[in-house]
Amino acid sequence: MYVTGTDVKHAAYCEYIIYIRYRLGIQETPTEYMQYGGEIEKEKHINHIKAIYKPLRTIRQPLLESPKRKLMGRPDYILELQDHTYIPVEIKWAEPTIVKGKPRAKWDHTMQIAFYAVLLEDTLSKNKPVRQGLIYYLKPNGKLVKIQLTTTLKKTALKLAEKTREIAQGKREPSKPTNTTKCRECNYRKYCPYYLSNK
Ligand code: SF4
Repeated sequence: MYVTGTDVKHAAYCEYIIYIRYRLGIQETPTEYMQYGGEIEKEKHINHIKAIYKPLRTIRQPLLESPKRKLMGRPDYILELQDHTYIPVEIKWAEPTIVKGKPRAKWDHTMQIAFYAVLLEDTLSKNKPVRQGLIYYLKPNGKLVKIQLTTTLKKTALKLAEKTREIAQGKREPSKPTNTTKCRECNYRKYCPYYLSNK
């Protein structure tokens, strides 16, 4: 099986989501925003990001595939800068984490964008490392968060992708969530064996 960027994001949020999607075969119901509003909103904000970075080229939702690793994904956008380096960009209908008064990317989004950096290095970027990712958080009022994509972060995303594959294939059981307050906002809770047996 191919592991996707969405899988890695889900696994970083909670490994039970992988169990529910792949082993129980239940998919999330798209929200109204995901169905209708998302794409229009994204186009509006990428123009603001392009004005800052002045890329040579902007690619919308490219399918990136690494057959050697059996990984694939479709970031919202890729910017190719003047020096021919690449930046993956995600636009999220979410709020950033606030640390000491400053906006920071959420961990699941960080893992997703580090995963896209690995895919880019295997495909378009070839020998040039992808060192930066961008996430634009639409809530509560729009914040662009930069992520330094270190080698450690990219390795962590790759390890998580392999763990995701093992859980999906039934070779490994999901870990319990580190923070059960996440369950309150989780779209999968009505199907989740962990939540249902602990509520
Ligand atoms: S309800 Fe809680 S344990 Fe279940 S998938 Fe969601 S976050 Fe994980």
